[in-house]
Amino acid sequence: MSRSETVTAPMDDGGWEPLRLAATAALANAYVPYSKFPVGAAARLEDGSIVSGCNVENASYGLTLCAECTMIGAARMNGGGLITAFYCVDAQGEILMPCGRCRQILNEFSTAQTQLMTPSGVKSMDQVLPDAFGPRDLARIAASGAEH
Ligand SMILES: [Zn+2]
Repeated sequence: MSRSETVTAPMDDGGWEPLRLAATAALANAYVPYSKFPVGAAARLEDGSIVSGCNVENASYGLTLCAECTMIGAARMNGGGLITAFYCVDAQGEILMPCGRCRQILNEFSTAQTQLMTPSGVKSMDQVLPDAFGPRDLARIAASGAEH
């Protein structure tokens, strides 16, 4: 089944508040001397734990890490797991949409049931990254034995 065939029921509001709070708390750790644009991100993993991350800039601007990157690193350092829900905020607490690169990063650790809070409401991973390239594409080619 593709992700677009799956209907995800919205999580009740009580499920989002701990994520909003964790993302907001992560803002304090952001390293943003250049943009002055701190970002905090948080996700609930399938075991119920919550992980968070902040953006970390670099003098070589292109090397800047988005909050989603450090959040996924934290998730891996704490045993890993798939994301069930994701939330990202700016310095004013406004909901932010993950950038294109981070949608791909989140997709790697998401399922058809993963929900993302977005400025336009709760969405599935497939809605924010339709027809995504992912681990299944690599597995499909490996399983086929196709070589060049
Ligand atoms: Zn990003």
